[in-house]
Amino acid sequence: MTESPRPPVPAQPTDFASLPLSPATLATLARLGYQSMTPIQAASLPPALLGRDLIAQAQTGSGKTAAFALALLTQLNPRHFGVQSLVLCPTRELADQVTTEIRRLASAEDNLKVVTLCGGVPLRGQLATLEHGAHVVVGTPGRVMDHLERGSLRLDALRTLVLDEADRMLDMGFFDDIATVVRQCPPQRQTLLFSATYPDGIAQLAARILRDPLTVTAAPVQQGGRIEERWYEVTEAQRLHTVGRLLAHFRPASSIAFCNTKAQCADLVAVLRAQGIDALALHGDLDQRERDQVLVRFANRSCPVLVATDVAARGLDVANLAAVINVDTTADAEVHIHRIGRTGRAGEDGLALNLASLDEMGRVGRIEQLQGKEVRWYPLDELTPTGSGPLLAPMVTLHLQGGRKEKIRPGDVLGALTADLGYTREQVGKINVNEWSTYVAVDRAIAEQAASRLNHTKVKGKSVKVRVLTDLA
Ligand code: AMP
Repeated sequence: MTESPRPPVPAQPTDFASLPLSPATLATLARLGYQSMTPIQAASLPPALLGRDLIAQAQTGSGKTAAFALALLTQLNPRHFGVQSLVLCPTRELADQVTTEIRRLASAEDNLKVVTLCGGVPLRGQLATLEHGAHVVVGTPGRVMDHLERGSLRLDALRTLVLDEADRMLDMGFFDDIATVVRQCPPQRQTLLFSATYPDGIAQLAARILRDPLTVTAAPVQQGGRIEERWYEVTEAQRLHTVGRLLAHFRPASSIAFCNTKAQCADLVAVLRAQGIDALALHGDLDQRERDQVLVRFANRSCPVLVATDVAARGLDVANLAAVINVDTTADAEVHIHRIGRTGRAGEDGLALNLASLDEMGRVGRIEQLQGKEVRWYPLDELTPTGSGPLLAPMVTLHLQGGRKEKIRPGDVLGALTADLGYTREQVGKINVNEWSTYVAVDRAIAEQAASRLNHTKVKGKSVKVRVLTDLA
């Protein structure tokens, strides 16, 4: 039997200029280096900009945030002070990332206010911020509902509602909260639902809150990236020490070491620090401030190794890890796939290093079954230190007491360090300005000196208290 020829699928244009975006927005995209649309943007933006409701299947790293951010920004009237867009996210980290991306894309617009409303942060500051009016709110369902109940947030002028990572919000039990929030949104609105997977709950939710939605999907950008997996058999006595040997041998610029328990995380950090490796732990016992600091330091290259449990690493979006280390083998083979999927992104090669004891061989078997291939074992003897000395981060983070509330901008900090104190641009790394504090990464060699000199200089005309972040203090 001969197959009838299929008509060719028309290629979607990937040039942002093919979209009805303002010249200012196109200029911002060019400045950010977004040269062409990612597959999910090319699939979702044309209908979204026409005002259609969408169900979009997209993963982290696909460019989904810019897809819905451009759609909601296009609907905004900056002269009208009232919440016109609401983005619901499962976690505070994701909400922070979404806020950052929306602010970046809206940077041509001077007076646009984007506010984050998440739990774990005192209500008082949020109430004060809301009183000044906001155009876009990004938040977690519980806290957004709190504000609706208090009357500090009104949604009657809402034009666009976005549910980001809807599957994870359902996993976390937010169905009822989402339904409550949606009841307070005007029926005449656009709703965009983004989800990586389609459990039953998503169809139910979509049927309740979307109108005649279009479903769009796009192949993951980095499909099946090249991840090299290496397995090493260890005894319990060898396990933690072997992580140090893996790091000394492969010297990944940034990696996450996954442990199955918090206690294991704490033990591993202690072992690595004793070996002179800058490692930080990310686990459920950290308060929000400590967690933020750890994430900032990992992202700005002042910590090469993050030691985490699966729960703590949820929602963490770190572009391109050089390696993932599985310190313990997980009982759930899908979790293994999820863990190692954090390396080998965006066309880079990835490295997944796995330790397993004899007791864990059953788990290894389940991973082999799910992956449809046998794992490859390597001898511990191959792990010989390379390079010179322990794995140290190239940068160190300075903490400045003062942030957006004091009207500090990244340029003020960069100016103080370069123009006023004479450091070079290359000695200064990423600058994160939060509401009350600022973090700046500087070259390890100048950290102490730069901190003490900054303490005697003015930033934005004011003295600020500066300290070097060493261990979690
Ligand atoms: P997301 O999937 O939204 O977390 O986005 C992943 C990363 O891709 C973010 O760092 C974005 O800033 C970046 N990004 C989004 N759209 C584009 C684009 N069209 N070109 C280049 N980078 C992009």
